[in-house]
Amino acid sequence: MSIAFKVYVRCLNCQKDYGTTLCPPEADDAPGDIDELLESNFLSSQRFKCSDCESSIATVTGVKDLCNGALIRTQELCS
Ligand SMILES: [Zn+2]
Repeated sequence: MSIAFKVYVRCLNCQKDYGTTLCPPEADDAPGDIDELLESNFLSSQRFKCSDCESSIATVTGVKDLCNGALIRTQELCS
């Protein structure tokens, strides 16, 4: 069973909130839950792009585990 997360981000330029679905590749070191995702290089390697202003600087405001419905709010800065 593959795992999927919904990552909520806020554009630092226009303050628009939007969400994007991430599906980590299935690998031995793939993140298996939200905590692992937040600590993983996989998340920091993602490039978010605002659909309105195309800014790529965004704050991750929350992550939802689409497999079990868990939701964690964060304020981690992701650029
Ligand atoms: Zn924007």
